[in-house]
Formats: sequence, structure tokens, C-alpha cells
Amino acid sequence: MFWALFVLGHDCGHGSFSDSGTLNSVVGHLLHTFILVPYNGWRISHRTHHQNHGHIEKDESWHPITEKVYQKLEPRTKTLRFSVPFPLLAFPVYLWYRSPGKEGSHFNPSSDLFTPKERRDVIISTTCWFTMIALLIGMACVFGLVPVLKLYGVPYIVNVMWLDLVTYLHHHGHQDLPWYRGEVLACCINLLQVYRGR
Ligand SMILES: [Zn+2]
Repeated sequence: MFWALFVLGHDCGHGSFSDSGTLNSVVGHLLHTFILVPYNGWRISHRTHHQNHGHIEKDESWHPITEKVYQKLEPRTKTLRFSVPFPLLAFPVYLWYRSPGKEGSHFNPSSDLFTPKERRDVIISTTCWFTMIALLIGMACVFGLVPVLKLYGVPYIVNVMWLDLVTYLHHHGHQDLPWYRGEVLACCINLLQVYRGR
């Protein structure tokens, strides 16, 4: 069910759930807040991802990192990033810290991910996220920690692992699909040439 909520929220983020921007935003917030995704922060960085898909420097997630960046990573980050099963738990870490070699957070309105105009939207989503955390803490106080972990914590972890697995497979397709640097237009021309060459 968590995955279904994420996918529907994803559609709201793309504006394909409804013709109404307000309805997309309200439903997207309800769905994504429940599964602890900051709707607007994720929506905006996801748009950047689609606009730069396959671009090594500008893509937002699941892009290869350069050797120079890899060498600079702390040993702990290398282990968490490249040793199974840790990458399957990457999504919440990505939301807080982005990908290795990139600065910013999906929760911080001043992050490089966002323009000044988008800050208000990010504040709304971050507030919703903390409200959900407060709700979970409240439920743990009333019903006990174990029931909340069983009914929410376990499905949350399973959803994160599924989400990471699906998006990894989405973005590591056929070996002929190249990654790009430089101008986006040049990248598109190269990609067309690859397809025509088949
Ligand atoms: Zn998308």
C-alpha cells in the first residue's frame, strides 16, 4: 500500500493526477506525508531529475559518480553507498542529504535544489513531514512503540527497499544507454544517434 501511495503522489507531482494544480498538491501532500516523503521538496528535485535524465553532472539521482568524487568520499559513505543491502535503504538518506558529491536537503528551503520562489512550498511540505513524525510519536506514546513499529515501521522499511530497487532498475537499463556530460541538446543528439544506429 505504501508503494501505491508513493506512485499516486508521484503522479500528483507530475500534474497527471488531476487538471487542478490545487487538487494535485492537496492529494500529493496527503499521500506523500503519510509515507514520510516531503512532497514539494521531492517533487521539485524529481522534476530536475526528469529534465536531466542520463546527465552525469545534472541528473538528480542514481547517476554514476566520477572517480574524483568517489575518492573524496568518507569510508562510511562508500560502504553505505556501494555495499548491499545498504543502498536499498538509501531513499530517506537521499531525502536528507542528496547524492554523494552534492550539497543540500529536500527539507531545507534554502537548499541549492530550490529557487527562492519555491521556498514557501518546501516549508509547507517539511512542516507536513514533521507533523507526521509528531503523529507517529504520539501514537507510540498512546499505543506503545512495538505496535507502531509493526504497523508502520516495517511497511515503511519494506517500501523504502522496494522503491530503491525499482528506481535502481529503472535507471540502469540496457548497456548501450549512455550517460552524458555537457549541454543537454548535444546529449539528445547523441542519444538519437545511438537509437538510429541499432
Ligand atoms: Zn517521474
